[in-house]
Amino acid sequence: MASSHPLRLVSAEDSASTTNAISFDVEHWHSATLLSDAVEDPEDRIEESVDVVLDVLRRHDVRATFFVVGEVASEYPDVVRKIADAEHELASHGHTHTPLFELSPDAFERELDRSTTAIERASGIEPVGFRAPNFSVTGRTDWALSILESNGYRYDSSVFPVTTPMYGVSGAPIRPYDVALDDPFHASSAEQSGCGLVEVPLSVLGSRVRLPIAGGFYGRVTPVWLLERGIRRLNRRGIPATLYFHPWEFNPAVRVDSPSVPKRFVSFVGIEKTARKLDRLLTAFDFGPIRAMVDRRERNPKRDKWRELRTDDATDTEYDR
Ligand SMILES: [Zn+2]
Repeated sequence: MASSHPLRLVSAEDSASTTNAISFDVEHWHSATLLSDAVEDPEDRIEESVDVVLDVLRRHDVRATFFVVGEVASEYPDVVRKIADAEHELASHGHTHTPLFELSPDAFERELDRSTTAIERASGIEPVGFRAPNFSVTGRTDWALSILESNGYRYDSSVFPVTTPMYGVSGAPIRPYDVALDDPFHASSAEQSGCGLVEVPLSVLGSRVRLPIAGGFYGRVTPVWLLERGIRRLNRRGIPATLYFHPWEFNPAVRVDSPSVPKRFVSFVGIEKTARKLDRLLTAFDFGPIRAMVDRRERNPKRDKWRELRTDDATDTEYDR
């Protein structure tokens, strides 16, 4: 199967018109796993960091998805309203930013419900998208997908199709796909019906050896030309890129000296260049919120299914050339 030759199914026009997804996980900079126990009495930087991001997006007239931690939405309802007023999508990033590995299915459902309520209360908008803290939807926690579906969520964007020291599902599809609950990390085939939930995985570069390019630490250390190349390659195959950043990664004021040198490196490397990087990516490519991508996909199921069948991950060899 892996030796079958990829078919060239997507024209250059398709690639030029692909709208990618851009997203921001709104959480306290000090809630990052590496920093939470290494910083004492941290200063909140939510509002000023979100403002930097909103400003960059406004200049490019781009709408994005903001995955907001429920507790942050309760604490900073004005920030959530400001995001909604600028017509960005609001989605859930859990309520307490607890990775799913530490939650039972019942506890996760409560987290989801609390975060949904907090975002709705602040903005009047009911979220339909979810991203797990630390991308913690893997084989150990795939029960979360049926809970999302039964709670009215339309998509999940938690799967990192590469294994990193902290998260990831190696071999998962690299493009958005319908989730089949009995086989959640493969694109559902014609025989399997999806459960109604769409998975929007974070972008990676390469196929046999996959490198995360989606954002966060990887987005900060990867030079912008390489990010651009990765996005272009995905788009050429009709696959939209899905990127993520945190608003605090646009705010060098979060840098503190107390964590160890390796922790400081992973947390803060490249932070002074992130805004310029985003600026360049928004200039070079079309971006929009994830929900719009899911809507477009739903309106055009046939074409998508055709692509699913003919350009599945087993035929990714073209990608490596
Ligand atoms: Zn997070």
